[in-house]
Amino acid sequence: MTAQPIASHFVDGRYVEDETGAEFVSRHPATGEVIAHLHAATQAVIEAAFDCAARAQKEWAACAPAERGRVLREAARILRRDNQALSELETLDTGKPIQETLVADAASGAEALEYFGGIAAGIAGETIPVPGAHVYTLREPLGVCVGIGAWNYPIQVACWKAAPALACGNAMVFKPSEVTPLTTLKLAEALVEAGAPPGLFNVVQGMGEVGAALAAHPACAKVSLTGSVPTGARVAAQAGARLIPATMELGGKSPLIVFDDADLEDAVGGALLGNFYSAGQVCTNGTRVFVQSGIRDAFMTRLLERTAAIRIGDPTDPDTHMGPLISAEHAGRVRAAIEAGEAEGASRLTQDALPDLPGLDSAAFVPPTIFGGVTDDMSLAREEIFGPVLSLLDFETESEVIARANGTPFGLAAGLFTRDVTRAHRVAAALDAGVCWINCYNLTPVEAPFGGVKASGMGRENSKAAVEFYTRLKTVNLGLVPVDSPY
Ligand code: NDP
Repeated sequence: MTAQPIASHFVDGRYVEDETGAEFVSRHPATGEVIAHLHAATQAVIEAAFDCAARAQKEWAACAPAERGRVLREAARILRRDNQALSELETLDTGKPIQETLVADAASGAEALEYFGGIAAGIAGETIPVPGAHVYTLREPLGVCVGIGAWNYPIQVACWKAAPALACGNAMVFKPSEVTPLTTLKLAEALVEAGAPPGLFNVVQGMGEVGAALAAHPACAKVSLTGSVPTGARVAAQAGARLIPATMELGGKSPLIVFDDADLEDAVGGALLGNFYSAGQVCTNGTRVFVQSGIRDAFMTRLLERTAAIRIGDPTDPDTHMGPLISAEHAGRVRAAIEAGEAEGASRLTQDALPDLPGLDSAAFVPPTIFGGVTDDMSLAREEIFGPVLSLLDFETESEVIARANGTPFGLAAGLFTRDVTRAHRVAAALDAGVCWINCYNLTPVEAPFGGVKASGMGRENSKAAVEFYTRLKTVNLGLVPVDSPY
């Protein structure tokens, strides 16, 4: 099995290699097989990427915004045209089931390119009525932006950063996670095929130190990271030292609250989606499921029944619901979190056993795991596990659950299920979260802002809000009356 790219990096509109960079491999998580050999970017590759990005950015910013929009929408069309192959590649690289990657990865990336391609021509400043002056603002690009991605949604993360950045007239140097380096190269190819100038979107590979070198580069005008809280704190500190803007999309430990009057099947469906999609490797997952006492038994019964129907197996099989985690090493971390939960006294309600996985590396798989009797002080309720581990917590009253839901340093997302429309809005208003879902979970339409509060991050992706984070505002004052000078 191979998915070897032409070369490791994509710089100035073409694949480039520098074999003096540290070698690393990409593996198919389900089998552990090596699917690609790559080299981390050397300083020479990084400099080449910034040089051509700076040149391309000037050309791109000078072209008509409507033309920029056309290029992005054409890139979206190419991703949709190639969705089958891109999904297969994403499944090989991430281990996510093909039934997910076909609808949630390149397809979501294409939506971002379409959306920002659509609004590119409408990005503008405003006129401000002031007596004796004509005052207006210009919304200008920042320059060369750096994007750094996580491994759970590689091409989607790249598109969610590249689409608004490019629509606003910036160029980008992007580093994918070292464990999922492949599909972002295809995005770079698609943009060139769509007519973007060479150098506008560059992919450089490597480990954390390459990301750190990009964020610290004097030509980096802005950095946008999707990753964990500790990495976010480091990268934001680097940006702060240089006083450049930073968008941080970080981790979470989101609450999902099920009130007594909830629609049972919807609430169970939301909890399953919000914990087991992508084998639980989703930043917004509602891993703390607070269930009100009156619905607790019925909820738990249906949750366990429906969990038992989840099909674990080969992610390339269209019938598979849940594949491996990103690596056997990460699965080991998730198993350690499960063991810690048991040792702290939570009761494990699901079986430990995996089905037969012929030809697959079972060490990379973790079955969907549900804990009951979880309390707020347990590690299960405090730490982001980033695997298929759902914790059930009991509650009695609305005010109690709001206080407990907010009792975390994270603030990425929150969900609640209730038929009481007044309570739904009251509770949504009271929750510390960048995104709230009422009677649904994990919907992230490109038209709506996405991002966290508290330790889960800063800035917003998607929607018109993202434009704020990829442009700078210039105020222009034109005097309309004689200058009133006392000298
Ligand atoms: P990491 O924080 O480990 O890595 C994220 C990216 O940052 C990777 O490309 C990594 O490179 C790079 N990196 C690591 N160290 C540095 C550094 N010092 N300077 C610059 N870049 C660096 O996250 P994971 O890849 O493990 O992803 C999982 C995390 O991402 C979870 O916490 C999850 O919640 C979060 N996430 C947040 C999302 C959101 O939108 N809020 C969405 C998806 C995930 P390398 O991998 O090569 O080491």
